Amino acid sequence: MTELVRQCCEKWDEDRCRLSSQVEGWGCRLMVCLPDTMPRTQRAKGQLFHKVYTYAEKCGVLECPHYRESIIDEVIDDPDRLAELVSMGRRTRTDLLSEDFDKSCI
Ligand code: SF4
Repeated sequence: MTELVRQCCEKWDEDRCRLSSQVEGWGCRLMVCLPDTMPRTQRAKGQLFHKVYTYAEKCGVLECPHYRESIIDEVIDDPDRLAELVSMGRRTRTDLLSEDFDKSCI
């Protein structure tokens, strides 16, 4: 588990496992992996799943006991939730993590 995930996990509050107060995202505020476009085919959805899952694995989120990885599939299958993420545009990880986030964890 990475230090960032460990610290976040220690201060766990279910309501904070979201990208921001407005956007649920991938169900974890550390999951700042945003899609560029809406996937239109099953293949594109599969590629997006792979990208997001790999991100979660690399940043240690999959080791958090509060993370529910099935949310990745749920978001990919929900056009509204996915469009919300696409509309956030190309924002940096630092920008996203600084919103509603305890800066001591960055
Ligand atoms: S799921 Fe994400 S936001 Fe929630 S406690 Fe774990 S690391 Fe933190």
